[in-house]
Amino acid sequence: MRATTLLNRVLNLTGVRVVDVDPGAGGPLLVRVALKARKRLDCPHCSYSTMAGYDTRWAESTWRHLDFSGRVLVLTMLRRRLVCPSHGVVVQGVPFARPGSRFSTEFEDMTAWLVTRADKTTVSQFARIAWRTVGAICERVVAEQLDESRFEGLVNIGVDEISWRKHHRYLTLVSDHATSKIVWGAPGKNAATLDGFFKEIGPVNTTAIEAVSMDMGPAFAKSVTTNAPGAVICYDPFHVIQLATNALEAFRRSIWQRTRELPDQDIAKKFKGTRWVLLKNPQNLTEKQQVTLAGLERTGGLLWDAYQLKESLREVFAGDLNPDDVMEMITTWCDLAANSNIREFARAAATIRSHTQGIHAAVTRKLSNGRHEGLNNKIRTMTRRSYGFHTPEAALALIMLACGPVEIKLPYQT
Ligand SMILES: [Zn+2]
Repeated sequence: MRATTLLNRVLNLTGVRVVDVDPGAGGPLLVRVALKARKRLDCPHCSYSTMAGYDTRWAESTWRHLDFSGRVLVLTMLRRRLVCPSHGVVVQGVPFARPGSRFSTEFEDMTAWLVTRADKTTVSQFARIAWRTVGAICERVVAEQLDESRFEGLVNIGVDEISWRKHHRYLTLVSDHATSKIVWGAPGKNAATLDGFFKEIGPVNTTAIEAVSMDMGPAFAKSVTTNAPGAVICYDPFHVIQLATNALEAFRRSIWQRTRELPDQDIAKKFKGTRWVLLKNPQNLTEKQQVTLAGLERTGGLLWDAYQLKESLREVFAGDLNPDDVMEMITTWCDLAANSNIREFARAAATIRSHTQGIHAAVTRKLSNGRHEGLNNKIRTMTRRSYGFHTPEAALALIMLACGPVEIKLPYQT
């Protein structure tokens, strides 16, 4: 059997046949291919095709394909240009690669599959490509896989902001409470960012939305009020508890700053290592952290009060209380926090009091990002992984790959 025939059968590339193989001298294995039906030229961006070339020039293009027995395999093909009525002068599209890509579709699918499961270094080294190239691949795969159907039938949605990079670079993400999947995202975190979501889903899908859960900042509420006046704004337990957690952390930090300036550094030492002890749920503490917590309890004082306030608010939402009881306990909690002599908690109480209607709505509808916990953890992992991407679009694409309604299959996976 000839080498080209063998490769034809092994590679099994869509729409092309192998015409020549150059084993190279230690470098990449070069496989020259040609289109099986070579008469028509396809626009890479739409379904337009034509017999007429733009000119008589043939230019050689290369694409990285899946490695062959551990060696880099590069496909080469001569291509012509055409004039598409919608897209102008373009280089003809090929059936085995996405438009504008230097990689075959199978190579990109493999990379996209891997990047949701392995860290940055592993992906880069395994695929032998730069990290920013991984970002571009994610963008192309997601652009192809996501379709408008994900906006149909949305009833309860959650909106949240996440930092995708240091120095306050944010993405706004919209999730579907029914499926715990991210359905939309965009760079930024203000009202205009979320306006973009409603614009994209259109009036019919917007009308179907019954409730939107969010944090207690004004931006998202403003956008929902303007774009979806029929939807109920819900401040979900996750974000209510977050207020107390943030208050505790701010208070702990202020104490830590003050004690660091004291001449007696023994006091400062006592607060060392308390950060995670205070923020973690008590059942998740290590033995050593439990000892630290017990020490704080013995010392008592305002920091212990602050910790108990945070924990008690968490417990309000932990049980299966009926909505009226939850709201009553929140009122009691706000009274305690307002009179706690801790400025940070008094402020949290004021915020909660001015948002009780939305909290009540979340509690009665049982809308909680708590159910989203698995999703939140996944998003956090993905955003850490996307550090180093150069654009918010690439970071967003990775999140959509891992947390969106996209299913990436490995080549040859059934
Ligand atoms: Zn076109």
